[in-house]
Amino acid sequence: MLIVKNLVLILSLLCVFSSSAFANSIEITSLTETVVKDRDVSSLLIGATEAQISEFMPNAKTQHQILAFFVKAGENEILFDTGLKGGNIMNELVKNGKNPDDIKIILLTHLHPDHFGGLVTGENKAAFKNAEIYISKPEYKYWLEDLKDENIINALKLYEGHLHLFDFGDEVVEGVKAIDTIGHTPGHTSFLIQSGNEKLLIVGDIMHFIDIQLPVPDVAVRYDVDPEKAIQSRKFILDYASQKEIPIAGMHIKAPGIIRVKKSGSCYEKL
Ligand SMILES: [Zn+2]
Repeated sequence: MLIVKNLVLILSLLCVFSSSAFANSIEITSLTETVVKDRDVSSLLIGATEAQISEFMPNAKTQHQILAFFVKAGENEILFDTGLKGGNIMNELVKNGKNPDDIKIILLTHLHPDHFGGLVTGENKAAFKNAEIYISKPEYKYWLEDLKDENIINALKLYEGHLHLFDFGDEVVEGVKAIDTIGHTPGHTSFLIQSGNEKLLIVGDIMHFIDIQLPVPDVAVRYDVDPEKAIQSRKFILDYASQKEIPIAGMHIKAPGIIRVKKSGSCYEKL
């Protein structure tokens, strides 16, 4: 049974995922960092026509949010991404009965500030004292070796000796496989979680604005390092989730951030 520990969608999702195999459940808690309502995103979209914008996103305005996810799958408890530096994810964990000191595993989809920033408190300390941090090798190489990004270098220094680099295809921790979804960043990773018969995809930033990027998956955003590859990765993961009927959890999908999708021609719909 996939259990979504959050708000209004619990009942509807539980109906869809109703099952008696409770022992092999995946339990996901969505954690909200920020929500901005009616954000004008017209300057962020690449490849959207005026007609598409007015059809799917009137006035180019939408709600934009930053989420992270806490997942219990089998024996593992995993935090996927961490929100912003000194931000709200720590409070959200506490609110959901989880002490940040008890977080042992953090898997990062990529190294943008709204995903790794929460590793660091407002006082520049490690926010998760007992955590092991996992990042894909190409993501690490791009930000730390090629760009030498100081914010990231300083954040990861706080976790020296507790950093693990993985290849795409690896089972990063038991039951969690790293999937290549590069484009948004050069090492952007999605994670396929399996526990018993249950599956869930954590898809990071394969979509930022689902209002337009589901019906028109060729629309990219200015945050994409390689928009063409980001489009390919989006279609790949949406095709996969649609064919296999696996729910997806994305860090910029409206809370609780977990949806099912279906392919319809060259477009996708939220179920
Ligand atoms: Zn992001």
